[in-house]
Amino acid sequence: MEPYRIKVVEPIPVTTRAQREQALRRVHYNLFGLRAEEVTIDLLTDSGTGALSAAQWSAGMAGDESYAGSRSFYHFQEVVHDLTSYPYALPVHQGRAAERILFSALLPPGKITLSNTHFDTTRANVELAGCRAVDLPCPQAGDLDSDEPFKGNIDLHRLAHALRGPDASRIALVVMTLTNNGEAGQPVSMDNLTRTASLCREHSVPLFLDAARFAENARLVTQREAAFRDMSPRQVAEQAFRLADGCLMSAKKDGIVHIGGFLGLRDRALAERCELLLIATEGFPTYGGLAGRDLDMIALGLTEVTEPCYLQARADAARHLARLTREAGIAIVEPPGLHALYLNAGRLLPHIPAHRFPGHALACQLYLEGGIRSVELGSLYLGSEDENGAPVTAAPYELVRLALPRRTYGLSHLNRVGEVLAATVEERERIPGYRLVEQPPLLRHFRSKLEPVQG
Ligand SMILES: *Cc1c(COP(=O)(O)O)cnc(C)c1O
Repeated sequence: MEPYRIKVVEPIPVTTRAQREQALRRVHYNLFGLRAEEVTIDLLTDSGTGALSAAQWSAGMAGDESYAGSRSFYHFQEVVHDLTSYPYALPVHQGRAAERILFSALLPPGKITLSNTHFDTTRANVELAGCRAVDLPCPQAGDLDSDEPFKGNIDLHRLAHALRGPDASRIALVVMTLTNNGEAGQPVSMDNLTRTASLCREHSVPLFLDAARFAENARLVTQREAAFRDMSPRQVAEQAFRLADGCLMSAKKDGIVHIGGFLGLRDRALAERCELLLIATEGFPTYGGLAGRDLDMIALGLTEVTEPCYLQARADAARHLARLTREAGIAIVEPPGLHALYLNAGRLLPHIPAHRFPGHALACQLYLEGGIRSVELGSLYLGSEDENGAPVTAAPYELVRLALPRRTYGLSHLNRVGEVLAATVEERERIPGYRLVEQPPLLRHFRSKLEPVQG
């Protein structure tokens, strides 16, 4: 049962199959091109798409919009400090701005960053700073079907090896992504995080958390890691933050707001350097890239997100949809996390080769069948072709992500998704692959044009 009731409703668009076929043709079979009004259930992302609480909305009305020294900032700073222990909290408009500011301050060109897996904007910001981002996911992450509880972990062997290796002097930073968004939202264990922190300390390399889903990671720790069974998610989260030197936070995830983020820091000298960059590119340090009301809303979101009954309902929703998906005959990345389910499209559609994008084909079909928007995470996102369209690299897996916005859809919506998945499986042999017609040189999945290839 969701531990909240509905006070404000927003109608969702109901469309006909003919309308959806026409819409998909118009946007050249790229779901990013659709108007949101053409989507019935939007599972594109869990980022900034959650529902605010009544308490957050009313705190927003009371927000202090003073340029300098606003009451909202001090409230925000106190809440971040209580949760993380970091004395410095720099507000930014969203997570990637925190990445840009931290890396500009901490990464001279030629350095290396290590991570369980860099999120794509994190990697992009490391590379924009002229540095190299190296992912060290644990070997268990490669087995999509296994029940391993912590496939989001970093590979401690390779981490220790790198910290002692010939490039050790170039390693400027370790980033732990909680949960590991690049590895299907799988969690990181406290054991893994603790060992990572001691390796970093031993080698005097700062450790930062990419904490976008810190509460979801903490909840999964209380469920899956024996030593933490009797702790609350909030207690686990507090402990996790205390192991690191700071955090990068996209509040659009576990801050449960529509926009916002922050950079949490322990070191005063680093905070002063980052503040200068903040002033130049985001705003004065007591508002950063945000309005005063946003700071109050984040402060409340950071508190509400660790409430056990909220996290329980979120986990139950993910488990419910996982069951419907398996019952429909679609394999998912196991075990399911909290923010999204990852469907194994490659296995469902073996007649579609990687360069005809089975994940994209499944995502388009879910839209045609029931107006559901999802996102491909396969060879359209990660692969490449030569100038004649012949495949050069394919993704390791052909996945489709169904993200779950926070507090937004109820169980009846998920049941509808289950029906659409089942109907899609019925038709699977008739689902066409897709051919790229046009692609931009960078981040092609957002803007490329495709067309179905029959037969
Ligand atoms: C979303 C996200 C980011 C970037 O945050 P934005 O608020 O979208 O800029 C960074 N890391 C992770 C793990 C994320 O999920």
